[in-house]
Amino acid sequence: MTGIRDSATITCPECGHRSRETMPVDACLYLYQCAGCDALLRPKQGDCCVFCSYADVPCPPIQTARLTGEPTGCCF
Ligand SMILES: [Zn+2]
Repeated sequence: MTGIRDSATITCPECGHRSRETMPVDACLYLYQCAGCDALLRPKQGDCCVFCSYADVPCPPIQTARLTGEPTGCCF
C-alpha cells in the first residue's frame, strides 16, 4: 500500500536506546522489550501499541486510518 511505512525507530523512554524495528502491517505490538535496558514497554494510555507511543511513526493501521480518514479498526 502506498504511503504506509512498515518500519519505525523506537526510542526507549527509560534509557533513550533507539532501535529500528519492523512493524507488523495488520497487527499491533503491545509489548516491546528494550534492547538497551530490558525495560518492558507498554503503550501509553490512549495508544494502541508501542509504536504509536514511542516510535517516530505510528503503526500501519493508524497510518491507514489517517490516509483514508476513516476511524481505525486497529486492535480494539
Ligand atoms: Zn531502554
